[in-house]
Amino acid sequence: MKKTSRRSFLKAAARGGVGLLVLPNILPRSLFAADLPGKRIHVAQIGCGREGRVDMSGVMAHPTARIVAVCDLDSKRLAAGKKLAAFALTEPQAGSDAGAVRTTAIRDGDHYVMNGTKQWITNGGEAEIYSVIALTNPAKGPRGASCIVVEKGTPGFTFGKKEDKLGIRASATRELIFQDCRVPVENCLGREGMGFITAMKTFDVSRPGVGAQAVGIAAGAFDLALEYACTRRQFGSPVGSFQGLRFMLADMATKIEAARALVYATAKYIDTKPKERPTLYSAMSKCFASDVAMEVTTDAVQIFGGYGYMHDYPIEKYMRDAKITQIYEGTNQIQRDEMSKTLISNFHSRRPVAARAA
Ligand SMILES: Cc1cc2nc3c(=O)[nH]c(=O)nc-3n(C[C@H](O)[C@H](O)[C@H](O)COP(=O)(O)OP(=O)(O)OC[C@H]3O[C@@H](n4cnc5c(N)ncnc54)[C@H](O)[C@@H]3O)c2cc1C
Repeated sequence: MKKTSRRSFLKAAARGGVGLLVLPNILPRSLFAADLPGKRIHVAQIGCGREGRVDMSGVMAHPTARIVAVCDLDSKRLAAGKKLAAFALTEPQAGSDAGAVRTTAIRDGDHYVMNGTKQWITNGGEAEIYSVIALTNPAKGPRGASCIVVEKGTPGFTFGKKEDKLGIRASATRELIFQDCRVPVENCLGREGMGFITAMKTFDVSRPGVGAQAVGIAAGAFDLALEYACTRRQFGSPVGSFQGLRFMLADMATKIEAARALVYATAKYIDTKPKERPTLYSAMSKCFASDVAMEVTTDAVQIFGGYGYMHDYPIEKYMRDAKITQIYEGTNQIQRDEMSKTLISNFHSRRPVAARAA
């Protein structure tokens, strides 16, 4: 991560940007003790709107923020933005199929011995704290997975190369390599075997963060496109006076507001219904807002015409940055899968008993 990006990110963290999804209802007191502002979605755009366009890796760090908070492991420094965190689930053979992870953490006395490789980890190499999903009981497959906290500098824990990416280039993405890495058993978060449940519940509250990131990217691109449409002249008039572009602008603004409303509504749902699983709304908000970001940023490039295609103007960066929001924290295909599963299962659980028997 570039020094400036890291600084901006940490500044955003201190202003509450990183605390976006560390909602009061799931926050242990330790984070409040750190005086983390309670503001959430409306600060979501720090770092991804026009102002900063820096690094939203905090989105992917939220799971760690939550998990580490649960354990009270240096959470004050984390919440204050003095430490970066990372969450490591993905492996080369385990992307959407997260249950295919192979990294192991085998108990040896009062330590786990970790071996394996995690791929494409946001904040990899930059973060000080990593929550890693690893198999403590490989014979049980995904049910034998646990969430283990590993600190940077632990012997046997190293990093692969920094990935050269299409977008979010200010955010470091690296491999994590574990070779006979010994970690104390106290670093297991929750009970052994609960790793996937922890990870999935974490996604429930972290996905709207990607939605918020997407809204910020779309809104930033829209601001620039509107300004360009009002100032670039062709045929003796601003290009924004032509109906073809005016209608595009209208649709872009409408989609952004719709995405924003869904992300806010999801955050409110999470805040006010702590006992309910927000899986459906979290998936909807991430999926819808990221699709909007892709559409809006593509249209914004179109409004810039040929200049939009050049690196000299900032607009192409929004389009590149938008793409990742459709991919990470579960691709949008996986989000749609989650949504339809929940809808169908809700339908079956609501059906009268007689109908169910039929
Ligand atoms: C920049 C970046 C940062 C990341 N940061 C992190 C991080 O911090 N921590 C972490 O753990 N991971 C991280 N990831 C990994 C990310 O979450 C995965 O890339 C993502 O979950 C998809 O996995 P995959 O890339 O292996 O795609 P695959 O699972 O191989 O999918 C390939 C294609 O098949 C589709 N597909 C797969 N299964 C299905 C299905 N059942 N139904 C329909 N379509 C399907 C997918 O939608 C996709 O289009 C990051 C990735 C990137 C690119």
